[in-house]
Parts: sequence; structure tokens; C-alpha cells
Amino acid sequence: MIKPTPSRQQSLPPPRKPRIAVLKLASCDGCQLAFLGLGNRLLELAAMVEFVHFAEMGPLGSLTDLDITFIEGSLSTQEDLETVRSVRKESRYLVTIGACATSGGIQALRNLTSGDPLASVYPSPDFIDFLAHSTPVSSEVPVDLELWGCPVTGDQVLGALRTILLGAPPPVEHDKVCLECKRRGISCVTVTKGVPCLGPVTLTGCGALCPSFGRGCYGCFGPSENPETASLARTFSGLGLTPDEVARRFLFINSNAGPFREEGERWQEG
Ligand code: SF4
Ligand code: SF4
Repeated sequence: MIKPTPSRQQSLPPPRKPRIAVLKLASCDGCQLAFLGLGNRLLELAAMVEFVHFAEMGPLGSLTDLDITFIEGSLSTQEDLETVRSVRKESRYLVTIGACATSGGIQALRNLTSGDPLASVYPSPDFIDFLAHSTPVSSEVPVDLELWGCPVTGDQVLGALRTILLGAPPPVEHDKVCLECKRRGISCVTVTKGVPCLGPVTLTGCGALCPSFGRGCYGCFGPSENPETASLARTFSGLGLTPDEVARRFLFINSNAGPFREEGERWQEG
């Protein structure tokens, strides 16, 4: 039996830390800030994993041999498409963070317009290789976990990272923002103030942030399970919103998310 010599044993490399990338596509960087906002918890995390690529934090290492890749931003250019195809091959887990990466985000509003909306924003749009539509990452490659929100929260990204590293199934939200208001004892802004609120059709996860400040939810955590969008749209109409205003409530941050898009388009046409 061959035994390793003591000197050989001493030269064994330390166990490899999980290699993590946080990748930015077309986005505002707000979801990357959810990591930075973790403060001391990020320092503890950085001792346990290796952030090989994370533009907002500093490292810009190569996007290869990755254990978990978090992607912020929608697919808006040809380069974005090529990047996600390559990163998918190099990543054991691919997690989208935020409305942009998960449903196309605010930039997907251009999908609803005719003509060339980019021409009114950029003096020379021909210098940028824009795709015809801005789409979620899942439209191009399989995604293992989608985290909604605009932006996501630090608890969401930390919870996802921990559960993946531990091999446990990641927590999945099913409840609606409305239910979170009830749990927290927040008065319903629609019933008490007549404010249009997407809470009855939106996934929870934010702690009912907007209603807690007396404002209506605008759906940044995306559609809930079985969203009764038609019923809510009629309620908005009953509050005095015009059909176009009802449509705009649904066609906003998550205009590309199926139930919101379908309801919005119904009222656009009507
Ligand atoms: S989801 Fe919102 S916060 Fe996150 S990158 Fe997109 S626009 Fe910014
Ligand atoms: S209340 Fe709605 S819009 Fe506000 S943070 Fe929560 S999900 Fe987003």
C-alpha cells in the first residue's frame, strides 16, 4: 500500500471555496447593491466563498468553472445573449436577481412600442447592437432559481446562496403582498384611501414595503400564484382609472410577466 509522505500531505491544497459570480447585463446595478447592503454579513460570506467576478464589488475574474452565478439585468444586446450562453455552460447553478433578469424589467417596456424608441434616447443607436426586444434570461437559457423584486433584498440573495450551498431546496414564495399586509397589521390602502394597489396579485417577499408607507404596490415582485388580475383591473376601473391608466398599472416594472402583460394588453385594446 502506498502511503503519502508527510511532506506530500503538507503540500495538499486547501479545499476549494465555492466560486461565485455576480454578473451584470442591461440593468441599473440596484440588485448588485443588495449584496453590498449586507454589510458585515457580506464580509462573513466573503470568507466562505470566492467572488471571482462581481463588478460592483471589484473583482472581474474570468467567468469559468463557476458554482453559482447570479445574473442581474435583461438580455438587450447580442453580447448579452452570447454572455449568458457561455455562462450557463460554466455554471452549476444560475440564479436571476431582480425584475430585469427575471422578466425583462423596465427596459422591456420598449417591447410594447412601435417604431424605434431607442432613437429618441441615443443620438447614434446604430453604435449599439440592440436586440429587437428586451427579454428575461430564461428566454435564452435554463435558469435554476428566479428571485423577483426591483431591487431584490439582501435576505433573498443570502437565503438563496445559503440553501444552494447546503444542498437544500431554495425557499419559494407563494403568498401575495396582500397577505403580508394582514400579517403586519397594515391598513389596506385601497379600502381606506382608494389607492390602486397590485398587492392582491403580486408575490410577497418585500414585507409589504409600499403599503407600509401608505402607497400602492406596483408589482415589482412579479405575479403571484393564481393572480385574479381581471377582478383587480375592474376594481381599478371602479376607482376611476381610465382603461389606459389600468393598462399602465399592469404594464410597468414587470410588463413582460405573462399575467400582467395579458391583463394590461386587454385594457390597452379596450
Ligand atoms: S431589477 Fe430594478 S433594481 Fe434590479 S437592476 Fe433591474 S431596475 Fe435595477
Ligand atoms: S409593495 Fe409591491 S412594489 Fe412595493 S416593494 Fe413590495 S412588491 Fe415591490
